[in-house]
Amino acid sequence: MTADLNTNDSIKNLKGVGDKTAGLLGKLGIYTINDLILYYPRDYRQYDPPVTADDTAGDDLKAMAYKVRITGQPSMSRHGRMTYVTINIISNSKSLKVVWYNSPFVRQQLIPGSELVFYGKVALKKRTRVLEHPEIYTPAQYEAMMTSLQPVYALTEGVSQKMLTKLIRTVLDEVQLSSETLPSWIRSRYHLSEINFAVRQIHFPSDRESMLLARKRIVFEEFLSFILAMKLMKDENQTMPNNYPVHCTGKAESMIRDLPYKLTNAQHRVCTEIMADLGSDKAMNRLVQGDVGSGKTLIAVITMYIMASSGYQCCMMAPTEVLADQHYETVTSLLAPYGIRTTLLTGSMTAAGKRKARQEIADHKTDIIIGTQAVFQEKVDYDRLGLIITDEQHRFGVRQRRILADKSSEGQPHVLVMSATPIPRTLALIIYGDLDVSVVDEKPVGRLPVKNCVVGISYRQTAYRFMQKQIAEGHQVYIICPMVEDSERIEAENVQDYAERLKQIFPADINIAFLHGKMKPKEKQEIMQAFAEGRIHILVSTTVVEVGVDVPNATVMLIENSERYGLAQLHQLRGRIGRGQAQSYCIFMYGQDNQKTKQRLDIMQQTNDGFVIAEEDMKLRGPGDMFGLRQSGSLEFALGDIYTDSGVLMQASEAANTITEDDPGLVKEKNEAFRALAMQCMSGNTESITL
Ligand code: ADP
Ligand code: MG
Repeated sequence: MTADLNTNDSIKNLKGVGDKTAGLLGKLGIYTINDLILYYPRDYRQYDPPVTADDTAGDDLKAMAYKVRITGQPSMSRHGRMTYVTINIISNSKSLKVVWYNSPFVRQQLIPGSELVFYGKVALKKRTRVLEHPEIYTPAQYEAMMTSLQPVYALTEGVSQKMLTKLIRTVLDEVQLSSETLPSWIRSRYHLSEINFAVRQIHFPSDRESMLLARKRIVFEEFLSFILAMKLMKDENQTMPNNYPVHCTGKAESMIRDLPYKLTNAQHRVCTEIMADLGSDKAMNRLVQGDVGSGKTLIAVITMYIMASSGYQCCMMAPTEVLADQHYETVTSLLAPYGIRTTLLTGSMTAAGKRKARQEIADHKTDIIIGTQAVFQEKVDYDRLGLIITDEQHRFGVRQRRILADKSSEGQPHVLVMSATPIPRTLALIIYGDLDVSVVDEKPVGRLPVKNCVVGISYRQTAYRFMQKQIAEGHQVYIICPMVEDSERIEAENVQDYAERLKQIFPADINIAFLHGKMKPKEKQEIMQAFAEGRIHILVSTTVVEVGVDVPNATVMLIENSERYGLAQLHQLRGRIGRGQAQSYCIFMYGQDNQKTKQRLDIMQQTNDGFVIAEEDMKLRGPGDMFGLRQSGSLEFALGDIYTDSGVLMQASEAANTITEDDPGLVKEKNEAFRALAMQCMSGNTESITL
């Protein structure tokens, strides 16, 4: 019936998708049928046979299926803007409470007397076992799902697994898929499956093996497009003249002398490399790679000082507002004494505030502009924009790098990207092939290495006592709360609950606050500010503090459910402490006691070196267990993960070298398909990724 549906058509052409559903899907970045096809599962689920409601003690980490009989009527209540549907399931005189949030319609399915299967996780709340927001199936439906791997998609409120699964299935059944994008020589050389097979199997694998085959094909194409795009960009970069030359790079010397500390040798070396770039006849394209806490911000500040005092504007982008605010404070306090003007431009500013900032920029009444990536996607008129710095570059892909380059009307500005992602050298050469690389391989003197421990939850009380002691000595504490799958809302609730519980445990004079992604930027900023000023002792947070935040007085971090994070991400988190003169401590707590978990976490205990961790992580994880543990620290490919798919990355790199060997610009007819892949990678939509 929809045979003439085209992949570029809007999803509104699908049966059952109206304005409302389209709006919700838009939040996931899905606008066209093709977006839906490219919305790959985040994980797969193998459904186990259902258990009874007795078979759980609560606080299970794993979602499970519970076969239940509905006896009573569900009740509905309201709390603020939230509605709750609740029902009690009695099985062998034990009771299990089941709750759905903002989903009044589930009541229709909860017919007294019927038998159903609920799929979800049970938490222990005030001694009551609560099954939170489970999916509902009939026993027959559930039976049917048990036989194969089921996709798990990342969701947003109002969009369920069931709904997405159904839509994608419809599309794959009815839409004419695209034609093959990779020439056959490359498919046979690298054992890559055909595209239609790959697309169907990645969503609905008939078995694990087919899923891995499909995955390899898609990841290969993703990497290959990326590498080819980068090679084209490198070609472009190498011919870019230096439009913003700086003739006296000695300018910064007195400023450096006035700093409260001496530059480390590594900082000094990297600054020299940058100054050479600024004075050369080519535009700078440089990556500064350095482990967390190695002092990259200062390198950025020195570079901006040199450029700004030569009459050029500079802008610096951060991946989060919290970090942008912090950079604004740092830059202002270091450079205002020299007459350098700095302006902040972030999404949460008022319209009037933004307008004023834009005007200042256009009139060159400011020298340095600091903001988030989102802001720089809007139109801003710069006056002699000579330098663009992106902090924590690992969050930006090829498209972002390219948009940046288009920002200045007077020709390509210098580009400096800062990254703490400890990518092993072999991979870095591939991923950052278009950039020159400087490494900050040394930390400021006087830092004591963080002391680590990996412990089970029985250690929690001891950890709390330890924190109290540290706070009494004038220090501060981070607690990173468990991530909650699929729901920012539940995550927010969790963080709040946790902070409440702590308030019961700790004396009243210890200030406890929480931070999560759903808070308004202004609230987040206030909390971070209070924490930075020492007015908050314990900050309970989700991973929003992961990137770049600098509060040297914080000396303890407790990471709950640390088994749920990738090692690189744990390393980023831990990087928030150990930034001052005092001894810092990181407590990795795990809730799931198995050998592999412990082995992985032990690496965190053995070393504080991000590069070693990255290498070990790669060794430990094969392409079999990449799901569910995506490295939020690594480059954002739709499916590929440079760590776990490093083998495929190497192959794609080799292929790219073969292809470009006799045709660097991809202009020959036989390479048309590859050129198309590269161009697609460079253009496409420029939706921000994670903010
Ligand atoms: P990162 O490399 O993770 O971005 P930061 O730039 O945030 O690290 O620096 C971490 C901390 O080290 C900051 O508090 C900063 O003021 C301090 N710092 C930077 N350079 C030096 C130095 N040469 N000597 C002492 N402290 C320094
Ligand atoms: Mg930083």
